[in-house]
Amino acid sequence: MLVRSGSAPLGYAFSTAAVSPIAAYSGKPVDMLVGLDAAGRIAGATILHHEEPILVIGVSDQHLQEFVAQFVGKHSADRIRVGARGREGYVGIDGISGATITTMVITSSITKAARRVVQSYGLPSTVSAESEAPTTVAVQTTIDGGYDDFPPWKQLWMERAFELGVVSVALVVLFAVLFFQDSLVKRTRLFHRVRTGYLLFTVFFIGFYCSAQLSVVNLLAFFHSLGGGFSWDTLLIEPVIFVLWAFVAVSILLWGRGVFCGWLCPFGAAQDLISKLATRLGVEGYQLPQPLHERLWAIKYLILIALVGLSLDSMANAARLAEVEPFKTTFVLYFMRQPQYVLWAVALLAVSAVNSKFYCKYLCPLGAGLSFITNFKIFDWLRRRSECGSPCQACASQCQIDAIKPTGEILDNECHYCLECQVTYWDDQRCPPLVDKRKRQEARQGKAANVIASDS
Ligand code: SF4
Ligand code: SF4
Repeated sequence: MLVRSGSAPLGYAFSTAAVSPIAAYSGKPVDMLVGLDAAGRIAGATILHHEEPILVIGVSDQHLQEFVAQFVGKHSADRIRVGARGREGYVGIDGISGATITTMVITSSITKAARRVVQSYGLPSTVSAESEAPTTVAVQTTIDGGYDDFPPWKQLWMERAFELGVVSVALVVLFAVLFFQDSLVKRTRLFHRVRTGYLLFTVFFIGFYCSAQLSVVNLLAFFHSLGGGFSWDTLLIEPVIFVLWAFVAVSILLWGRGVFCGWLCPFGAAQDLISKLATRLGVEGYQLPQPLHERLWAIKYLILIALVGLSLDSMANAARLAEVEPFKTTFVLYFMRQPQYVLWAVALLAVSAVNSKFYCKYLCPLGAGLSFITNFKIFDWLRRRSECGSPCQACASQCQIDAIKPTGEILDNECHYCLECQVTYWDDQRCPPLVDKRKRQEARQGKAANVIASDS
């Protein structure tokens, strides 16, 4: 839209969602009103509408407005980057802690839309000496049309090369564990060392170091973006999370959601470690009676349904309910937020000391969402015997998730693929049918030895 003062043209005003819609964290674009002056410089910018779930991490609309205000005075041709202050060839602006995707997408939306408008209306597409503002750095690398279109996700992938390398190696290791699971679980000590080491890695590296805890909000945003505004740029903007989701998508189809829940989810791993430590310290575990346990499963599915319903109306409202996930409090904000959130996260971790993975079993909407997809899994590599369930209940009583039915079947939708039942399956000191077999064999060998001894 052309803006005039009297009959004199001043510049152009446009909505970024109309000119260059880019889906943000919510799966929907952040719409901003931006004004360009006749030199192609941003003369004003304000947010019109957004559905970003930012309030839940303590970021207000005022913070977003202040972020957007940093664009005023920059040229559409500037290489504007969050956190690139002082970097040669870039115009740096300050980001907002905890809202990386939102700020990246806002930056991309404003610059792309501004460049389109500049090209459409023939405004200057490079920073001229006269129009250069004192805070900007002149553009040195340009492409056809005078613009550098280096997408922000590429920059992030380069910056996160170390995290990506470590996580990629860890995923290869996990793949090997799964592929050779039968051989590994037969070596009980080694298996338990590998598993405990992996859980520690998941909590401290994936969780606390990378803050790469997957969330149900990712799932909701993804499905909403399919309805319009899908963009690889948005998916790729969190490299470690992208790689984890890619692995989860494949591993769910091959083995079920248990691979993520049992090995790669930082909050799940933290609960698991707490439960193991409590057992070592002699804390007695308490499992709910089976009928109540099975009824309580429904809660997580109900939470998921409520989240999907709310997200159809507003992602911001859905994100408030998604606070049932203690992930952000734990791994993004490191327990530094309002007391009610901290209490919730700590209580869920603490309860795991007496009832292993209580949150996972009954409350987690992400686990519920992933378990739907588990219905399409291809492999069934968890072994069972004809005696499982009738009469034997050995594995069922050990399963931390209570994912083995009294009839002996493993419930794939609930199983966390911890492989403990497989350790028992191969252990002739713990698996009752194998114990019987071993005893019969020992008795036969004893008899044979007696016969030989009496003959001689
Ligand atoms: S159920 Fe939820 S918290 Fe538990 S391991 Fe799975 S995704 Fe993580
Ligand atoms: S013990 Fe077996 S059934 Fe239970 S969660 Fe672990 S792998 Fe799944």
